[in-house]
Amino acid sequence: MSEQYLSFEEKALFEKGDFNYIPLLIVLSAPSGAGKTTLCDRLLRHNDSIVYSVSCTTRKPRGEEQDGVDYNFMTEEQFKGYIKEKQFLEFAVVHGNYYGTLASTIRQALNAGKHVLLDIDVQGAGQIREKLPLLLEDDPIRQGYLDIFVAPPSLEELRSRLVGRAEDTQEVIDERMANAEDEMLHADEYEYQIINDDLDVAFQRLNNIIEKESEVDE
Ligand code: ADP
Ligand code: 5GP
Repeated sequence: MSEQYLSFEEKALFEKGDFNYIPLLIVLSAPSGAGKTTLCDRLLRHNDSIVYSVSCTTRKPRGEEQDGVDYNFMTEEQFKGYIKEKQFLEFAVVHGNYYGTLASTIRQALNAGKHVLLDIDVQGAGQIREKLPLLLEDDPIRQGYLDIFVAPPSLEELRSRLVGRAEDTQEVIDERMANAEDEMLHADEYEYQIINDDLDVAFQRLNNIIEKESEVDE
């Protein structure tokens, strides 16, 4: 296709800006309740070169959640259409619902020089890791991939945070706790692990990792 027929968005998929840093795809996973949302919100407020990757999901919106902001909420039929078209960089079924990340959205943001924050579960992170060697060497996803596992200081503290958040029923909390034990077994597959004990310390460490990893080697 001739370049003049590409829309602005399509061009951004192929054209990379020239930056003096590496735009990172920051994959953050954690058992539910470990404090990932708290850390991500702080990171986004603190650093305007980081954007949040809005995932697609078939789960229903919770509380104040907005379509296109927290998630792209969609039907199972729509989600399966994207799977068929191979549009997802990764997708998974978590707690009975589909969740997925569109590859085009990520590439577009990285090519525009943004760090992209991806809040996904351990299955999703594993899928991206497996795909990396299959991507072109200059694919911004391959060049900027960084993964971090956020762990709670203990399972007791995790339960107490889930109870304190007061968002889930006892049954859901028990399910999240059972999943947490499995998820923790994957922590060492991640390049970095952060224990979210003191929030300020965890946040500082997260910032330091991002700063270090985005530096271009001379
Ligand atoms: P996640 O997104 O991983 O499910 P949240 O960010 O919603 O977790 O955090 C779960 C609960 O724990 C929230 O009520 C949050 O305010 C609290 N929390 C987060 N980090 C800490 C911390 N370092 N110490 C104590 N409480 C925390
Ligand atoms: P929640 O329903 O509480 O927002 O999210 C439940 C779980 O789904 C979390 O562990 C979250 O990390 C995961 N999740 C959210 N978006 C995605 C995604 O795009 N892909 C994958 N694999 N997991 C996701």
